[in-house]
Amino acid sequence: MTKMKVDLHCHTYWSKCSGLRPKYLIRLAKHKNLSGIAITDHNSVFISKKFYRWAKKDPNFFVIPGVEVSSDAGHILGLFVTEPINTRQAAEVIDCIREQDGISVIAHPFDPRRGKGFPDSVKRVDAIEVFNSRNVLPMFDWKAWNLAVKLRKLMTAGSDAHLPFEVGNAYVMVPGSDEEDFRRDLKQGKVKICGRKSPFFSQTVGFLSRKWRKLVNAPGIN
Ligand SMILES: [Zn+2]
Ligand SMILES: [Zn+2]
Repeated sequence: MTKMKVDLHCHTYWSKCSGLRPKYLIRLAKHKNLSGIAITDHNSVFISKKFYRWAKKDPNFFVIPGVEVSSDAGHILGLFVTEPINTRQAAEVIDCIREQDGISVIAHPFDPRRGKGFPDSVKRVDAIEVFNSRNVLPMFDWKAWNLAVKLRKLMTAGSDAHLPFEVGNAYVMVPGSDEEDFRRDLKQGKVKICGRKSPFFSQTVGFLSRKWRKLVNAPGIN
């Protein structure tokens, strides 16, 4: 491997709005020539922690353990995080991620349906998600990109996949060749942002999935 593609925002069935089985998600990611994915279920590290270990048997692919916390200032991704985060206060969430030596990312901050902009409580975040395949308007990504440049924050990208055809729709490309290289490259900002939009109906399918799974009391957290 000379260049790695890593999708930094993926959900499994443990997020009620997704139906993706973790092994299927990993298989799809490999099929799409990704070198790794971050599993970032809503408010839970349960699946990501388990499959971070499970994926280690393949030396050419890695899972980054992660979480997407629904904070009072919008969704915050924690990458390289294995311990549960129980607070919902943004500044405390960022502290919890830092204590675990993780990387905190404000996700889709300018999508008005899912983000709350960039309030003061998130200003200490490490990175800004500057491309999210589920952001319907490119303007939401441009604003995030401009802010990251202005504040000199690290940049990330992710598909926010909840459905099979979304996996790998966005990723970062780095020069390194393994998980440790990736972490270093990300922290040094040596990433190229790549991606395309997912079809607009993806979110409708996710919404219906959540309603249905609540109705049948399916396992998982939202
Ligand atoms: Zn989100
Ligand atoms: Zn998400």
